[in-house]
Amino acid sequence: MATNQDIFLRPLSARHTKPHPLLHPITTHEIAWLAGLLEGEGSFGHKTARKNGTSYITARVTLEMCDVDIVTRARKILDAPAVYARPARKAHGNDTYRIDISGSKAIAVMMTILPFMGERRRTRILACIDAWKGSSHRPHSSATHCLHGHAYTTENTGRDKQGWRYCRTCARLHARQAQHRKRAQRPADWQPVPRPPKTHCIHGHLYTTENTYTRPDGERQCRTCRHAQRDSIEQRYGTAPRRKYVRER
Ligand SMILES: [Zn+2]
Ligand SMILES: [Zn+2]
Repeated sequence: MATNQDIFLRPLSARHTKPHPLLHPITTHEIAWLAGLLEGEGSFGHKTARKNGTSYITARVTLEMCDVDIVTRARKILDAPAVYARPARKAHGNDTYRIDISGSKAIAVMMTILPFMGERRRTRILACIDAWKGSSHRPHSSATHCLHGHAYTTENTGRDKQGWRYCRTCARLHARQAQHRKRAQRPADWQPVPRPPKTHCIHGHLYTTENTYTRPDGERQCRTCRHAQRDSIEQRYGTAPRRKYVRER
């Protein structure tokens, strides 16, 4: 007799190293029952959320039907969060009950019942699993291209604060689209508000005539900060930086 671990496949996600919560006692009979039920009343899908040019794919398995006892039983087997009741949509219709399983748990369910499914469901489930595998939401994704076909080259690959990979081409496109949207929302008589001239440096020193140094390239610099910078360099290395370009006479 196979153990539960043998029966229930775990999703091959790099982020899940702990035992999956779905690995609770479940028999082959239950799996077969579930497969038959989902073949008739289940729906399988995946949705894509986009953020900074990266697509995050969430798989979802839904069961919706009129018999609350069957939905409740499926909920127990699948460890679904809740059974949702939905009032009848037509006057002569029945109330329905629904459970939703999403994320890697949904992938686990799909992988487990796959061998029992018919042709149409099998195609659908395989498409969901493929999308999930190819999605760049996993840190060690093997995808070589983003969902829009841009190659993940060194120049085209960015990392967000959490370390997720994103496509720079797509991110640039999204930023440009956001800029266009922002401009389109402006009233016709919109005028840029000029910024007041800076009176203090970033460290809060006042830009007086004595305290202001103009660099050869025309940039204004705070003398107090310049001196502090030179002092700290001298403290660290013993010498102040020499002027790079000395004009020959
Ligand atoms: Zn892209
Ligand atoms: Zn300063």
